[in-house]
Amino acid sequence: MTVEVSDRVLEVRDVVAELLEDAGISEPPVDLKAVAAVRGVRRIRYAPLKSAYGLLKTGPTGHTITINKRHMSRARFTLAHEIAHTLVERFEYLDDEVPLAHLKPRRAGGVEAMCDEIAAEILFPFRMFERALEDDATGIDEIQRLATLFDGSVMATANRFGNVTAQPVQIISWVRHGSHALRASQRSGRGFLTCRGTSPYRPLDRMTSAPVRAFHSGSREHGMEVPLPDKPWNVYDCEAQRFSGGKGGYVLSVVRPANLAR
Ligand SMILES: [Zn+2]
Repeated sequence: MTVEVSDRVLEVRDVVAELLEDAGISEPPVDLKAVAAVRGVRRIRYAPLKSAYGLLKTGPTGHTITINKRHMSRARFTLAHEIAHTLVERFEYLDDEVPLAHLKPRRAGGVEAMCDEIAAEILFPFRMFERALEDDATGIDEIQRLATLFDGSVMATANRFGNVTAQPVQIISWVRHGSHALRASQRSGRGFLTCRGTSPYRPLDRMTSAPVRAFHSGSREHGMEVPLPDKPWNVYDCEAQRFSGGKGGYVLSVVRPANLAR
C-alpha cells in the first residue's frame, strides 16, 4: 500500500535528502547543528522572544538563528523551520543555479507553511522514518518510541506519523476550546472522525469519548467512537492520552476502524 503524495512533497524530500547527505547524516536523530552549518548558519542562540518561535538573521558572515527560550519543547522544530527559511529565501534572489526553483511559494503565508513542511522533512526524513516504522504498529506507544528515536516532540512526531504511515489510521491533537469543549487542532492520516460532516468538537462532559476521558484523567484511555449516528456501523477504536505542552497541554488520539484494532 502506498500513500499518494504531491510533486511538491517529493521535491521537498529530494532537497532535504541532498542537504542531509551534504551534512553527512544518515541516522536519526538528525544532527541539526550539522545541517545548520551546511546552510551557512554561524550561530544558534537561545533567548526569550515576544512574538515568534524563532528568528533568522542574515549578516555578512552568515546566518544567526535565535530560538525562543520560552518554547523549548519545540526548539528542534523551530530550529529546523529556520533552517528551512535559508532554503526558501535563497531561492528568491538567486536564480538558475539554485536547485530549489520549484519550491518557490506563492504568498507569504505559503512561505511559513512550506518551511513547516521542510522542517518536518528535516526532523523526520521520509526514508529514515519509513525504515523506522514497525510493520503495523500505530498506537501512542509507537509514536512515543519514534519521538525518542528522532528526538522530536510527541506532537510533531504524531503529525509526521499520520502523514507517512500507510496504515488506515487518523491522528488528532485535541486542545481545549473555551471551558466546555475540546477542539481537533492538528490532524493527519485518514479523516474518520473530523471530516465528512462530523464535528471537530468534543464537549468536556461527554464521558463516552476517549479524548475527553483522557483530558480529565491524565492517563491513557481507550474507547469506541461512532461519529455519525445515522451510520452506526462505522465504529472506530480510539486510544487517547494527555500530554503537556503549549497552554494547558493537549490530548493526542489515535483512531482506527474497530475491526482492525489491535
Ligand atoms: Zn518562519
